[in-house]
Amino acid sequence: MRRRTFVTSSLAFAAVGLSVRSRAAFAGQSGDEFDPASATARGQALRVLLGRGDARAIDGSTFWFRGRRYRGTFSYAAGGQVVSVVPLEQYLYSVVPREMPPSWPFAALAAQAIAARTYVLQRSNPRREYDVVPSEADQVYTGIDAENPAATSAVDRTAGAVLRFDGGFAQAVYSSCCGGHTESSADAWGGAPLSYLGGVICPYCTASPWYRWSRSFRARRLRAAFGAKIAALGPLQSISIAERDASGRARYVDIAGADGSFRSEGSAFRLAVGPRILPSLLLGSIAFAGDPAQAGARVEIEGGGLGHGVGLCQWGARGMAVAGATADTILNFYFPGTHVGDD
Ligand SMILES: [Zn+2]
Repeated sequence: MRRRTFVTSSLAFAAVGLSVRSRAAFAGQSGDEFDPASATARGQALRVLLGRGDARAIDGSTFWFRGRRYRGTFSYAAGGQVVSVVPLEQYLYSVVPREMPPSWPFAALAAQAIAARTYVLQRSNPRREYDVVPSEADQVYTGIDAENPAATSAVDRTAGAVLRFDGGFAQAVYSSCCGGHTESSADAWGGAPLSYLGGVICPYCTASPWYRWSRSFRARRLRAAFGAKIAALGPLQSISIAERDASGRARYVDIAGADGSFRSEGSAFRLAVGPRILPSLLLGSIAFAGDPAQAGARVEIEGGGLGHGVGLCQWGARGMAVAGATADTILNFYFPGTHVGDD
């Protein structure tokens, strides 16, 4: 068990527009994966499930859907949902600037482009009606108006480059800020440990406004979140981190009262309290402020990072790029044992 020392940052709560990401359907764990080695290749079309609504062709290579312009063509899935059919590289033109600020250095954008390309190739599955959804559940994709010249350049200059591991695609997942130590995929989502997703110490994301944060919420939120399990504890007495994983993230949180105690898995605790209140599970401390049995009691938390923390730390990629690292160096650092190659 590893203890961490936290420093509260006055920069907490500053939003940067990056998503709180939760990979509920972690590729490789869901049981319906297709052999990626023979899946979508560069130049082939990617199928993005846009949802219900009317699509209208603008010309042979762009169309309108819900007030947005998209590259490619469209078809309809069973049930009438619109599926965008778009060349992979053109899809990335929109994804990269939505997943990372396009004002960031080129090497960070290039690492993001390679990760996003690899992620989607790994997810492609001809046996399904579509490959990905356009939201944080996969990657954010909102069409042409999101495109930005710097991000497009990063896509073009890395065209076809993917992250390889052991002859196949690596699972090139990413999140906003790891808070100083990336998370292992096995600790975040279960499944067999992956050597390149075991978690690394990251000294590069300290400039992120999410590197350290503090939160405070009313203790009654626990009752709303956990219901009868909390009511059964009687007057509340304490809340604590019962166990941490190797990265320092909370594996279990214990809540104790006069009549008993309740243990929540860390991930369930974050979901129940709300991911906006708990940006990550890298918690430095958690405690009641004042008498927890009183109505106005609050829970105070200090923590670090934004998102699940597995794989590429985007703020770390920015920090490495600022220090002169290339995209390949960045990806090798966060996915040790992988290499950048052609698709
Ligand atoms: Zn980091």
